[in-house]
Amino acid sequence: MDYSLEEAARRIARARHLVAFTGAGISAESGIPTFRGPGGIWDKYDPQVLELDFFLRNYDRVWPVIKDMFYTVIHKAEPNPAHYTLADWEKRGLLKAVITQNIDNLHQKAGSRNVIEYHGNTRQAVCLDCGRTVPLTEEILSQQVPRCPHCGGRLKPDFVFFGEPIPPEAARKALEHTLRSDVYLVIGTTGIIIPASLLPYEAKRNGATVIEVNLHPSEYTGKITDIFLQGKAGEILPALAKETEKFLPSSN
Ligand code: NAD
Ligand code: ZN
Repeated sequence: MDYSLEEAARRIARARHLVAFTGAGISAESGIPTFRGPGGIWDKYDPQVLELDFFLRNYDRVWPVIKDMFYTVIHKAEPNPAHYTLADWEKRGLLKAVITQNIDNLHQKAGSRNVIEYHGNTRQAVCLDCGRTVPLTEEILSQQVPRCPHCGGRLKPDFVFFGEPIPPEAARKALEHTLRSDVYLVIGTTGIIIPASLLPYEAKRNGATVIEVNLHPSEYTGKITDIFLQGKAGEILPALAKETEKFLPSSN
């Protein structure tokens, strides 16, 4: 395993199909807590609130908790330099896709367009009674327990709960980009949430160079990571972008 920012930059500049795979860590500096680690979401809440059965059985009690866990913080959050770096690379044709496990919309807010939301999103909900998709407006979220504006039915946030399948279109696109990738940039993820966590292994098996950015070693580090850049995503990504410029054909 290598630790060189310069080597990572060289690989990125020469990539034919650079793909980023992101987890909660990329949004930590935007003020959104990760699941694990000190101050993480699981220090404060019981993970069973994101189990579908539990949610359905305790609808009125769980919704306020989910609002507090995700919506209040996420709606206020702004992208950080890590999100902006990826958006800039995409605009310039260097990065082909972002596959994210996050549901916070920050890649899109930063300007990324090809964002594959592996675990869904917080923008909308699906009515479990009439089947309609309902945008989660401030108005709906201001209700103590949100209900479908069309039929009064129960709304399930459009993100993936424990035990639910991955949205098929996202799963298909993610695998397609993973298998095409020659440089796979893994940012801020522990690598333990299956099946999302399997994607970097697929990339590696298919011959990609795996570059990892994380505050701490993850499940990938020491196994499939070729270059490990330890630190905060919001600091490493801009530094990596600056270094990458040295290896790109000059624009003037
Ligand atoms: P996780 O919370 O399990 O782990 C976060 C990872 O990020 C750790 O490896 C940690 O070392 C690293 N990290 C923390 N701060 C960092 C920083 N500043 N820079 C770089 N790395 C940093 O997250 P996960 O592996 O993504 O899995 C949790 C699941 O929780 C995901 O599926 C995701 O859907 C969901 N989740 C999403 C959000 C969000 O949308 N922002 C927030 C929390 C959890
Ligand atoms: Zn409805």
